[in-house]
Amino acid sequence: MNFTLPDLPFAKDALAPHISKSTLEYHHGKHHAGYIKKLNDAIEGTGFEDAESLEYIITNASGKIYNLAAQAWNHEFYWNCLSPEGGGDAPATVVDRLSSAFESVEGFKEQFREAALNEFGSGWAWLMRNKNGQLEIDSTTDAINPISRGKTPLLTLDVWEHSYYLDYQNARADYVDAFLAYLINWNFLEKQLSSE
Ligand code: MN
Repeated sequence: MNFTLPDLPFAKDALAPHISKSTLEYHHGKHHAGYIKKLNDAIEGTGFEDAESLEYIITNASGKIYNLAAQAWNHEFYWNCLSPEGGGDAPATVVDRLSSAFESVEGFKEQFREAALNEFGSGWAWLMRNKNGQLEIDSTTDAINPISRGKTPLLTLDVWEHSYYLDYQNARADYVDAFLAYLINWNFLEKQLSSE
C-alpha cells in the first residue's frame, strides 16, 4: 500500500511560541512528508510493497526501508505527544503510574530530560514499556524505534536538530524544558498507559 502523510492533530500555529509555525511547516510539511514519499518509493517492487502497517515494516525490515518506516511512525506518534493544552499537572492516573516507576512526576521529567540531552546526535527520547510491563526511559539514535527492540512506545520527543533549530538554535535543553512544561500531552500518555 501507499502510505500517506497524516494531518497534524493541531493547527500549525497552535504550539507557538514553544514550537513555531515555521518549524511545523518544515518539520511536518517537508521532513515528515519526505520520509513518507521516500518510503513509498523504496518499498516499490520489494516484499514490503503490500505491507499493511508501518509496524510490520519496522518489525521486519532493515537498512533504508527500516529507517524510513521508523521515521514515518515516530513522527506521527510525536505529533500526538504534543498538545496546545499540554503541560501543567498530569492526570491522577498518570501521576500514580509515573510515581511508582520514577518516584514522582518530577523524577520522570528529570530522567526523560537527561535521556533527551544525552542523545549525542540525532535521535529520539522515549518513555516505553518493556516486556515485563515496567516503564523505562531511554533514547535511540537516528530513526530507531523501540518496537524493533520488543518494547512498547508510550511517549516520545524528537531531538533531531530539525525539530528545534529554528526556534532554539543549538539550545536543545530549552526545547526539552518547553516540551515538559507546556506541550507534553498528558491525556495521550494516559490513554497509552491505560492500554497496558
Ligand atoms: Mn523530526
